[in-house]
Amino acid sequence: MTGDGLTSGQVSSLLLAWYGRAGRQLPWRQTREPYRIWLSEIMLQQTGVDTVIPYYLKFLDRFPDVSTLADAELDAVIALWAGLGYYSRARNLHAAARQVVSAHDGRFPADLASLQSLPGVGRSTAGAILAIAFDRKGVILDGNVRRVLCRLFALEQDPRAVAAERQLWCWAEALTPEDRPHDYAQAIMDLGATVCTPRQPKCAACPLAGLCRARAANLQHELPRSRQKKTVPVQTQVALLLERSGRLLVRKRPLDGMLGGLWEFPAAAVAAGKDPACAARKLLAELGLAGELREAGAVRHAYSHFKLDLHCYRGAVDGPLLVAEAGESRWLELAELGAIPLHGAHKKVLALLASNR
Ligand code: SF4
Repeated sequence: MTGDGLTSGQVSSLLLAWYGRAGRQLPWRQTREPYRIWLSEIMLQQTGVDTVIPYYLKFLDRFPDVSTLADAELDAVIALWAGLGYYSRARNLHAAARQVVSAHDGRFPADLASLQSLPGVGRSTAGAILAIAFDRKGVILDGNVRRVLCRLFALEQDPRAVAAERQLWCWAEALTPEDRPHDYAQAIMDLGATVCTPRQPKCAACPLAGLCRARAANLQHELPRSRQKKTVPVQTQVALLLERSGRLLVRKRPLDGMLGGLWEFPAAAVAAGKDPACAARKLLAELGLAGELREAGAVRHAYSHFKLDLHCYRGAVDGPLLVAEAGESRWLELAELGAIPLHGAHKKVLALLASNR
């Protein structure tokens, strides 16, 4: 019993019967290998199934097991991740693979605490690996499960509030059965992804419709309660497309920051109210280069917590670069730029450059 009138047996028997009829066929469903389950769970953390599938297959092709991934250079992992977003996941993936090899002899641990000690593996991801790979009771509270529980129990509070979060974990724990945790984990995630969807939940097709309190109160479209939308701040930057002997200058971002390990054209922030052209000339001087810059257009890119307006300037330059060329900066031909992992905003800059040529 959950303490709220629903039993694990009631919910799981309905869900498992439905899953037998309607569960999704996904590439990571054809295996119980912990490495593959872990990889899929990390990729799915902030990304939808359709986007993840080609990346998942590409990763397995290149890194078929945890040792291959641990032996790889981080740059190679980041390059393969490029386009999937939330790049700290790629860095954590690599670090976790090394930890599995060094601390666990290359075998994924089958207990919650050891799984949670791996970089990038939180409580819900550890629960998912435990259930799906090892068929042990592992409690999951990812976005899909959270939504199902908010509606099933008609939770009126903001689910991100601390007390609500604690309550959701209690319900998730109480509903997870000892029996068939592997199937239950996938069933409840599938229900959230395909039936109890964020907009227009398909209650008529839902196996839990008879138990669902949101549906009984006609609140299924209102729950979960959404946070007040905050205004998204806009940052302004300049990006320089600097050409020398037919090559363009690119730099690698520091590994420990946002978009770490990805490449970009030299860029700098523009303070509020300041002229981007001045910021562009200042950046050119800081690089130790000289030349005329001209405007080359602008791109806008949206991140999860801010928007970026990127003003682009272009010019032929000379002078010695004031950073180590062999290290984190390179002069590359246009054709070579497609082979390095540029981050999303600067891919747009590259497209802008190509359209201006
Ligand atoms: S009945 Fe509707 S709101 Fe309730 S769990 Fe099912 S799909 Fe979600």
